[in-house]
Amino acid sequence: MTDKTTNISDKLVREDVLNMVPYQSARREQAGGSCWLNANEAGGNNQLDISLSNLNRYPDFQPQQLINAYAQYAGVENKQVLATRGADEGIEVLIRTFCQSAQDNIIICPPTYGMYAISAKGHAVNVTTVPLTDDLQLDLALLEENKNQTKIVFICSPNNPTGDVINRNDIITTLELFKDSALVVVDEAYIEFCPELSFAKLLNDYPNLVILRTLSKAFALAGLRCGFTLASNEIITMMSKIIAPYPISNPVSAIASQALTQNLNEMQQRVIQTNKLNVEIGEFLKQQTWLEKLFISKTNYILFQANNASTLFNSLIKQGVLIRNQSSQLGLDNCLRVSIGNVNELEQFKSAVNTYNQQQE
Ligand code: PMP
Repeated sequence: MTDKTTNISDKLVREDVLNMVPYQSARREQAGGSCWLNANEAGGNNQLDISLSNLNRYPDFQPQQLINAYAQYAGVENKQVLATRGADEGIEVLIRTFCQSAQDNIIICPPTYGMYAISAKGHAVNVTTVPLTDDLQLDLALLEENKNQTKIVFICSPNNPTGDVINRNDIITTLELFKDSALVVVDEAYIEFCPELSFAKLLNDYPNLVILRTLSKAFALAGLRCGFTLASNEIITMMSKIIAPYPISNPVSAIASQALTQNLNEMQQRVIQTNKLNVEIGEFLKQQTWLEKLFISKTNYILFQANNASTLFNSLIKQGVLIRNQSSQLGLDNCLRVSIGNVNELEQFKSAVNTYNQQQE
């Protein structure tokens, strides 16, 4: 029975999907452990109080209260906001709205977030790779060379998994370069950790600018699945034609609206605390004899290169501490990424590293 089901799906599926590698999310990749520092989540829970009435009714296509709250928070107009199931759905819908399968390209700048390429491949859209330069910035000359057929350029800033922002002027040059030919998507999933560097204020200046946001990181609501696309009203209107109806359920809308209004201060305190722990964990890593490189981090995670990366990584797993091995990413040999959880989780991380060090003596 099971075999037959497998056979029919193997027979019917698109050949390119058969060969696709799914996104290796932290939850899918690593089970177990007691200290989860591998998915850039927040380390604490939210204080929320919502009622669950009205579940017999479909929600608004775009719940007004939520759109108002996010527009106000981001400093943009309501009509420039689309609420989605996480920023991941924003990526997917952008590609499905603007790219013709088997014809158009998106550009990605690795090492970067994996879902741009996976969503593109899922829709049979070509992926052009324009690697970041050695100092982890945009290769403007190579971007220009790849203008033809490109519909969307994905720039992640601050970049996951490296942690630093992309130079502001280079993003502006890219917006100009693709002014008449492609959307430039700036993924600001981690922008709350350095809000002064957001591109949101430039939305009215660049009609091809799209910004992705999420409540999964600084808002500590990864389990909620709520993200936002910010763009011109024309772009939002086009995306609204493609997105499946009712992406935001009533409970999601109620929780997210509360987080964005009454509880905004909670998020801001969390950011202050995370930025403080970021410095602390950086100092701790700098003391390690095996450290080869500590990457600049303006986010809730830190990337580092260690001469013993895989043994360290495996030792931490054995001790129940899960971090992320980034060694398979372009240019990130022996690099590990640790999320900045709460104080307790970071103590567990430090203590597991210390145990590992003792075992090596
Ligand atoms: N963009 C980046 C850069 C991310 O790191 C992530 C999540 N890891 C996302 C988008 C997706 O976020 P969400 O949880 O809102 O789908």
